Amino acid sequence: MRSLDMSGEDLTVLVDTAAALAREYWSGLPGRAAYPTTSGPATAGLFTRPWQEEGLGSSVLQDFHDIADHSRPAGSRFFGYVVGSGEPVGAAGDFLASVLNQNVTAWRSAPAAVPIERSVVSWLAAAVGCGGYSGSLCGGGSAANLMGLALARETKMPANETGVREPGTIYVSEQAHFSIVKAAALLGIGRSNVRLIPVDSRFRMDVGALEAVIAADRREGRHPLAIVATAGSVATGAIDPLPAIADIAAREDVWMHVDGAFGALAALAIPDQFEGLDCADSLSLDAHKWLYQPLDCGCLLYREPGAGKRAFSQSADYVKTLNTDPAETFSFFEESIELSRRFRALKLWFSLQYHGRRAFRDAILRDLEHARLLSRLVEEQPDLEILADVPLSAVCFRHRHKDNEALLRRGIDRGGVYLSNATIHGQFALRACFVNHRTREEDVELIVAEVLAAAAELPG
Ligand SMILES: *Cc1c(COP(=O)(O)O)cnc(C)c1O
Repeated sequence: MRSLDMSGEDLTVLVDTAAALAREYWSGLPGRAAYPTTSGPATAGLFTRPWQEEGLGSSVLQDFHDIADHSRPAGSRFFGYVVGSGEPVGAAGDFLASVLNQNVTAWRSAPAAVPIERSVVSWLAAAVGCGGYSGSLCGGGSAANLMGLALARETKMPANETGVREPGTIYVSEQAHFSIVKAAALLGIGRSNVRLIPVDSRFRMDVGALEAVIAADRREGRHPLAIVATAGSVATGAIDPLPAIADIAAREDVWMHVDGAFGALAALAIPDQFEGLDCADSLSLDAHKWLYQPLDCGCLLYREPGAGKRAFSQSADYVKTLNTDPAETFSFFEESIELSRRFRALKLWFSLQYHGRRAFRDAILRDLEHARLLSRLVEEQPDLEILADVPLSAVCFRHRHKDNEALLRRGIDRGGVYLSNATIHGQFALRACFVNHRTREEDVELIVAEVLAAAAELPG
């Protein structure tokens, strides 16, 4: 047999071993600490090695045990950042997508994958009340925000041909994710042309301040280009006032992009909180967050079907399509930054249909309920206090009498629950975020118990 070829027997061992490892990992999740016991030297010792001339065969798969033991588990007691829980049907979809190894550039190279991605994108759009929007899947919210702002720039102040002559200005709240500023830097708009608009007491963009800053920029001869509203800020889940922002965007003739990487998919469960989302010219989502999909799975949606091609079309001879049927001439690479693209849609195709729409809506509602439960439990504790409103599923709180940074470190070391942090009005906050289909009420109750136990271990 030639090198790299595998016998049917070897393939069977490979797939059976991988399946057994996955089963064992998933069934062992409840017994794992919320964060592994590990260190830089430990992981360097385990995973720094030369590439050997001779192959190790299937025994190398047993490295999975060490790798899993030094990985942050996708278990029920992980509440840091905005990290989805990695739904198993989606994981099986990712495996089978790699088996098929489709390059989802265009219909000709992936005749099944292209319509599947277009279907899945249309489901996501409909799920958040933006039925009819076009779009594509990408690596995550940062990539989707970059593409959304590229659509904005090329529609409002085209620069693809000539380069940026006049950069335009972008408006985001002080609570916006850093990927917006990064996108402005990459697109030649410049960080200094991003205006950080103050927020109200609930961390939502102050639209009065937005109008004033836009007016000041116009007086000084600048060109407002886009307003980026956040639908679910990373720290507290704040949703900017979308209808008011949409009115201002329309009146000022600027692009409205919504960064919904954390929150927008909750519109599936609580659409009333997301009124005005369907006014967005473009919208970012992260299915690897609040749709529980394995990483990576971002999505950009946009209203005007031609906007994607306007920003990204760049045809070369060797990719010229020979077909005439509209389904067969469709190319994702004409509407995205990427050319070679993996078959991200397959995990969604399997996972979303395996469980059905109701199951996802219910899981999101449970996350929201868990956030309310934690808020109540924190309020019942005289030593703890809530630091911010809880419009979605992120809860920011603190211990009134301890060094909260030390408390967080101590809590993580205990291994019971994993929390992250945020800064709220200059104060260090403990932050728990629920985008986890595995979490149960007991896990939520454990957060308070663990924080109090960690506090008892700290001085004064
Ligand atoms: C997570 C997040 C992002 C970035 O998304 P990635 O998938 O990590 O690139 C952007 N904006 C918000 C509000 C987020 O929560």
